[in-house]
Amino acid sequence: MSDTDTDTTPARTDAVVIGGGPAGLFAALTLVRAGRRVALLEAGGDMRESLCSRLVARMDGRSVRDAEKFRLQCPRCTCLTGLGGAAFHFDTNLGYISSLTRSKIESAPDGTVRSYSGLERALGSFDRAEELIAEAYRTLYELGLPPAEPVHAERDASFGAIFQHVDTALSQSVTVDDSLVVIARLKTELEENGGRVLLHHRAEDVEPLDGGGFEVRAATPGGPAVFRADDVVVGVGKLGLPWVRELIGRIGVRHRPSRRVDLGVRLETRREDLARLLDGCHNPKLSFLNEEGHSVRTFCVCGGGRVMQYGFLNAVALDGQHCLNQPTSKSNLGVLTTIDLPEGTDGTEYAAAFAARVADYGRGLPVVSTVDQLAGRPVPEGPLTTSLINYHHGDLRECLPPSLVRDVLAMVERLNALHPGLVPGTATVAAPVVERLFPDIELSGDLESSVPGLYFVGDSSSKIIGITYGAATGMAAARSVLRRRAGMATVTGGDQ
Ligand SMILES: Cc1cc2nc3c(=O)[nH]c(=O)nc-3n(C[C@H](O)[C@H](O)[C@H](O)COP(=O)(O)OP(=O)(O)OC[C@H]3O[C@@H](n4cnc5c(N)ncnc54)[C@H](O)[C@@H]3O)c2cc1C
Repeated sequence: MSDTDTDTTPARTDAVVIGGGPAGLFAALTLVRAGRRVALLEAGGDMRESLCSRLVARMDGRSVRDAEKFRLQCPRCTCLTGLGGAAFHFDTNLGYISSLTRSKIESAPDGTVRSYSGLERALGSFDRAEELIAEAYRTLYELGLPPAEPVHAERDASFGAIFQHVDTALSQSVTVDDSLVVIARLKTELEENGGRVLLHHRAEDVEPLDGGGFEVRAATPGGPAVFRADDVVVGVGKLGLPWVRELIGRIGVRHRPSRRVDLGVRLETRREDLARLLDGCHNPKLSFLNEEGHSVRTFCVCGGGRVMQYGFLNAVALDGQHCLNQPTSKSNLGVLTTIDLPEGTDGTEYAAAFAARVADYGRGLPVVSTVDQLAGRPVPEGPLTTSLINYHHGDLRECLPPSLVRDVLAMVERLNALHPGLVPGTATVAAPVVERLFPDIELSGDLESSVPGLYFVGDSSSKIIGITYGAATGMAAARSVLRRRAGMATVTGGDQ
């Protein structure tokens, strides 16, 4: 079967990787470098192709980057799909350039504050997580990512007096132009090593076979395609959530409903207001525990960036976008509260209901208020400080849980204690932001599920999010595949 042929006669391969985001791409690369035959199925097209048709109609010969502001403002077109995955479609920021840090906190049983890294939890070892992040960076540099300029800056000592945890680890910026080079080279290397990168192949079914291995069915523009493989690595990202939920239920992958979700907002203000926070660190992660003992934290700080929206679970969700080559006059940052849900509550449903409540109130659009409005203070007349184009200017107190309103205001208060005026009353608060939504899939430290040979990596692992974390989990899964297969070859060899 050729790359573009479709057939219902199964094509035989060693491994099928589902999803061409960082997690799937790094899994596939690790496998082909070790000589395994891999078919990588990506539902979308290549990076340029995944621009939506409405955008293309408006591009008029402008560059991909010039077009970003239109693309990211279309609530119903998703720019999170296509080779490269969600974040490589725009300027972005990778964390942990020099060494991995523990950026999250939780309240320990003895009442103390404990910090941890999501990747360390997923892989079961901090050292292993650190080694895989270093490997991800080495690979990205080999593929043409220009190494970051070192930044030398003094850490502001007052951070530690105001927040319970401060992580100002250096990060690496990646422009969309860099990503285009990296992803194109990655695709070339996969193909030169015998890998098949199959665009417009949406996996629809994964069926474990009696006696081992899997059959994977995909929909393609030319009709169905079928693959047989020893191992399957699933890296379908956030947009793959409905499919993963359905799949794990149907084939009996052990999982539980997620009991912990991260919900939040994006704060946005003038670039000069937030500049003092970003002195010497692109992405400061500042956390405290709220009165229920849950973490409230900043994340994905975008200096000179934009707030972007995408269609998600019948609603919209917001994220931050970096605009490295053409910074805007605004900066935004996420504020997330971790919510532990009571037994019997399904986190995915809870987060979807949260997003739907905001969308209902906003008549299908994200909702924007000012900080003053959120705090119940009189609101002066004047335009809103928001980079969003399609939004509803309303009162977020009408649709956000009161505890989230309280946590956002507490974060604003702390940021202003750090530097007075950092977040003025005219700054905007936009919702909804939803993270950590996947069912809690039971996975080994190699990301292997209860169905042997079936792995879940990246955002769809339910354990981590982020580009380098995704790449690290993809590599961990691929190394596990290689070990298993090497072990089996030895056993088979011994039998002969
Ligand atoms: C706006 C925005 C900004 C972000 N900024 C940053 C940042 O600055 N730094 C950072 O580290 N992270 C950032 N993230 C998060 C980051 O994008 C993700 O954590 C990361 O891309 C996850 O990688 P992944 O490979 O798991 O999934 P994804 O990157 O989501 O890729 C999954 C791929 O699978 C494909 N797919 C889905 N379903 C199927 C199917 N059934 N069959 C075949 N293919 C399928 C999709 O088309 C997609 O290409 C951002 C995310 C967003 C949305």
